[in-house]
Amino acid sequence: MTTFIDGERRESDGGEPYRVIDPSTGETITEYALAGPGQVDAAVAAARAAYDGWSRTTPGERSGILTAFAAEMERRASEFAEVESRQAGKPIRLATEFDVPGTIDNIAFFAGAARNLDGKATAEYSADHTSSIRREPVGVVGSISPWNYPLQMAAWKILPAIAAGNTIVLKPAENTPLTSLMFAEVATAAGLPPGVINVVAGAGATTGAHLLRHPDVDMVSFTGSTRVGRTVLEAAASTAKRVHLELGGKAPFVVFDDADLDAAIHGAVAGSLINTGQDCTAATRAIVHRSLHDRIIEGVADLYATVRLGPTPDPATDLGPLISMGHRDKVAGMVERARSYARVVTGGASPGGDLAAGSYYSPTLIAGVTPAHEVWTDEIFGPVLTVTPFDSDDEAIALANDTAYGLAASAWTRDVYRALRASAEIRSGCVWINDHIPIISEMPHGGVKQSGFGKDMSAYSFEEYTTIKHVMFDRTAVAEKPWHRTIFTISPM
Ligand code: NAD
Repeated sequence: MTTFIDGERRESDGGEPYRVIDPSTGETITEYALAGPGQVDAAVAAARAAYDGWSRTTPGERSGILTAFAAEMERRASEFAEVESRQAGKPIRLATEFDVPGTIDNIAFFAGAARNLDGKATAEYSADHTSSIRREPVGVVGSISPWNYPLQMAAWKILPAIAAGNTIVLKPAENTPLTSLMFAEVATAAGLPPGVINVVAGAGATTGAHLLRHPDVDMVSFTGSTRVGRTVLEAAASTAKRVHLELGGKAPFVVFDDADLDAAIHGAVAGSLINTGQDCTAATRAIVHRSLHDRIIEGVADLYATVRLGPTPDPATDLGPLISMGHRDKVAGMVERARSYARVVTGGASPGGDLAAGSYYSPTLIAGVTPAHEVWTDEIFGPVLTVTPFDSDDEAIALANDTAYGLAASAWTRDVYRALRASAEIRSGCVWINDHIPIISEMPHGGVKQSGFGKDMSAYSFEEYTTIKHVMFDRTAVAEKPWHRTIFTISPM
């Protein structure tokens, strides 16, 4: 049963059968029938019906339910970690120490943030009027999420929306729907009224597209590729919906000549291999001062060699598989083509033996990459880091910005002026200084350029999920107002 509509799991309406595969073994975890447009209609109707009641709850009431939800998630944390690890091919350590606690912290954050919606002070901005601001929910939100962080992406979409008083229909990626369904179920068990969160697991091009064009959906929020993001914009245009897009990335990792070399090497390995590189903020393009170039390559290759690929339930496993054999073929194809124009220093292989049935791929370092190359311009979305040398700070910044994307970046330096310059001049939604990857609930996540627009997490996300209404009260109680003279003249002045 892969829809959660109006507070309960429901059978599919007879769509195509779909198998959820464990990427580390190739085994089927479960098979389900993809939800179709009829279930989207039912989910949107449930969200619409729940909207009036939910949008009128007080911030304190919403906060109380989210607090209970966080406590229930805490209680079921290991169950969520196991399912997330299995469906998305994440090492259990990553799911247990990153995905699940991050999600719980997000719920706890929005439990507090629900009570802190802000706006301009009510005041007499014109002498004859009192103006006030109402910050209101947008309505029914249609959200679409990707497979790389199924639980966290569901949380990032759902939490700010419902904390602000909206109701939501989420379509998770069809290959990783399980924890999104559990998330909705646990929220409802913790006291969320039926219909506030609805989850419909179906295919993107049909079920997703139907949700995007639904006339009773007021806003769409999407996390996924830039290619599909463009179709989201087109679909939303048909009914002029508000749009929030979190798209692809190609993060630069800039190492200046005064950087702490050891820290940069550790940061490059962790930043490029997190979630097997299937992370929109992962370090993908190391841009390294020529004086450190060879030592970075040597240090990263040495540390890559220590990373243990293994079964995802094993706590000793560092690196899990890619999401599917099809995706591994795509990553491997890009690396194979790179052999003709660059140097594959290490990696570029699929392990055999016990791991042969999984879609594993070894950590891969490619040197001699320039902005003309495919591995520089296109998202690889795998455990692959490219290295490119530079000679001047101007060149480093220009190379960092030489991309259609602008989601995240890092700069490695001990010089505060260089750090300030990098943080100001690199065009991306986030710039880390001497680190790469950490995220926190209080700070926004979102991109510029073709990485999209709008913010997830933090109080800034309320800008996406609320509208601002100006309410203006006349204070004079006279029929003929001075400004009417610009339109008509009744009494002589
Ligand atoms: P994708 O764009 O292929 O799919 C994302 C979602 O969109 C899935 O649920 C899919 O079913 C749905 N979809 C596909 N075609 C659709 C259509 N025509 N209409 C409506 N929905 C459709 O992306 P993916 O491969 O699942 O995820 C990887 C991509 O997501 C990468 O590009 C990555 O950078 C990006 N991503 C971005 C962020 C961020 O915060 N910016 C976070 C995670 C992933």
